[in-house]
Amino acid sequence: MSTAVVLFTQDLRLHDNPALHAARTRADQVVPLFVLDPAVERAGFAPPNRRAFLADSLADLDRALRAAGSRLVLRHGDPAEQTARLAAECDATTVHTAAGVSAFATRRETALRRALGERLHLHDGLTVVPAGALTPAGRDHYAVFTPYLRAWQRTPHRPLLPAPRTLATPDGPPSDPLPQAPAGTSPDLPPGGERAARRRLRAWDPDHYDHLHDDLAADATSRLSPYLHFGCLSARELAHHAAAHGGPGADALVRQLAWRDFHHQVLAARPDAAHTDYRPRGTRWHHDEQERRAWREGRTGYPIVDAGMRQLAHEGWMHNRARLITASFLTKTLRHDWRPGAAHFLHLLVDGDLANNQLNWQWIAGTGNDTRPNRVLNPLRQAERYDPDGAYVRRWLPELAHLPARTVHQPWTHDGPLDYPAPLIPPDALSARVRAAG
Ligand SMILES: Cc1cc2nc3c(=O)[nH]c(=O)nc-3n(C[C@H](O)[C@H](O)[C@H](O)COP(=O)(O)OP(=O)(O)OC[C@H]3O[C@@H](n4cnc5c(N)ncnc54)[C@H](O)[C@@H]3O)c2cc1C
Repeated sequence: MSTAVVLFTQDLRLHDNPALHAARTRADQVVPLFVLDPAVERAGFAPPNRRAFLADSLADLDRALRAAGSRLVLRHGDPAEQTARLAAECDATTVHTAAGVSAFATRRETALRRALGERLHLHDGLTVVPAGALTPAGRDHYAVFTPYLRAWQRTPHRPLLPAPRTLATPDGPPSDPLPQAPAGTSPDLPPGGERAARRRLRAWDPDHYDHLHDDLAADATSRLSPYLHFGCLSARELAHHAAAHGGPGADALVRQLAWRDFHHQVLAARPDAAHTDYRPRGTRWHHDEQERRAWREGRTGYPIVDAGMRQLAHEGWMHNRARLITASFLTKTLRHDWRPGAAHFLHLLVDGDLANNQLNWQWIAGTGNDTRPNRVLNPLRQAERYDPDGAYVRRWLPELAHLPARTVHQPWTHDGPLDYPAPLIPPDALSARVRAAG
């Protein structure tokens, strides 16, 4: 009887899981494994919000495996050592796992290869089109989105893989207890796990996405990002689902998945872009700890910025338009380095993802793939455009909830006392800072 180990990483699901599918079809028995690596925590990549989501997702994966006659084996330690040890314990002849794109994932794969040699099988499954599958002539990755999108749209997708109904797993290999959600999380986090992801997928209607995805108060985006980050839902399956639905909303969503793939292929080719400028432009950043703290705490005096930052603290998630506005405010208006801003996002975002977070920050800061690096988003114009009646600001800033649309985005024009800070940058100085308003 042949046995395979499946090492789950960022693919915490049974549906459309290439590593699990390969293990199941090529071996008689499968041992599902997840390794909690203390180095991830030491490096600061496991803050409370994502640990809570991970705890939910692992519990849900274990439940789904048990329903199929199997179970999850959880171990603590170095992933390569623990995987090799489990493979030896159960005489596994092969180990299947999903390929990652970060420097961390690459180091893990090198260590696994060293420990397991030919027994290791890497599978694509993180993105719709695997990172590195598309390259322009003479380069190892696409640096600009539009040509990447054209090549991406021409690429055929692999077929979707069914979730196994049954999975034979040998008795014996012991598991550590599954982790519990830690204290200190944002109060309104989404639940993790494949079941929650599929519920969300079924409930979300892409028909309004095209015209409402930038409307802050409408909240019409899919909110699937944490499920994609942890692999509770496969990006490939979401693209398939959207294509089957059809229409402009579904097309717009698929384009966002292409952005996700684009950032993943950049990071795979340039892992250092997680912390160094992708395109250094000699920017001289301003440093002011008080300004940065006010930004982090949602007290800049610009309601649209503060609303975004408070949504982040409360939900561990922020609307994409608010991410653009708050990141532009920090890097272009206050002229602060993108790295501390990205680090704050990564600390709180439940979808916090090195490829999407760092490269979007670089895009906004003008050090990344943006073809218009001098673009600046004027927070007042953005507020007028994407929160015209102030409903988003009122939702997140109760101290301004009584203000009418006329003043809610410019509370300094309101007659009467307010428990809200004066703007960090005087509004009349804003236009001088905002060179090319968005
Ligand atoms: C400064 C900044 C930081 C960001 N940090 C992250 C992050 O850490 N993790 C993350 O997943 N996304 C990040 N994004 C991208 C985007 O804001 C989120 O993916 C999106 O808001 C998630 O909400 P949703 O699932 O409702 O998105 P939808 O609009 O429903 O889009 C569907 C999916 O497409 C992908 N997607 C959408 N927009 C982008 C984009 N601009 N770049 C890459 N992928 C995208 C996401 O996986 C998303 O779940 C960041 C954007 C900015 C401007």
